[in-house]
Amino acid sequence: MKPIFLSLLASGFIFSIKSLVGFLTGSLSILSEAVHSFVDLLSAFGSLYSISVNNQKLSIKIEIAIITLGSLWILKEVLASESHIVNTIPGIIVTIVSAVIYFLVFKINHKNHSHSLAVRANLYHIASDIGSSILVLIGLVAQLITGLAVIDKIVAILIVIWLFYLVLRLLKELFKA
Ligand SMILES: [Zn+2]
Repeated sequence: MKPIFLSLLASGFIFSIKSLVGFLTGSLSILSEAVHSFVDLLSAFGSLYSISVNNQKLSIKIEIAIITLGSLWILKEVLASESHIVNTIPGIIVTIVSAVIYFLVFKINHKNHSHSLAVRANLYHIASDIGSSILVLIGLVAQLITGLAVIDKIVAILIVIWLFYLVLRLLKELFKA
């Protein structure tokens, strides 16, 4: 299977389970991860279909718009919502499942690794996805132990900061293209 196609399937599945659990439990860290997975899904689509430079530019612009809108929405929720204890168990399960999927995709894509720059960039990205899953997991477990709902907000803000960093890198790519 083509590495990009595998990433597409994985991020599509992860986006679905994260949005479901995010909306059911109200966990902001899971919801911001859902925004992130949606962008991953879009960029995998973009890599599949961006044959010409113009298409590539368009898909980068769409990604920037989605990340910005998604992050602003998460920030609004962080500021507006009362700190309430969310049920952390579904979030912990969904985060472990996604981390395992990311790890498997990383393993498979690493094995079939071609020297294409796009594939290598994708591998780095998957590695960072594993990192953010671990961060969310630590946050949810800490929340489970301490009962402090504010931890969920802090993790959500950290993910939003990471998303803005992604925007900066995308902007750089856009100007280079
Ligand atoms: Zn990602």
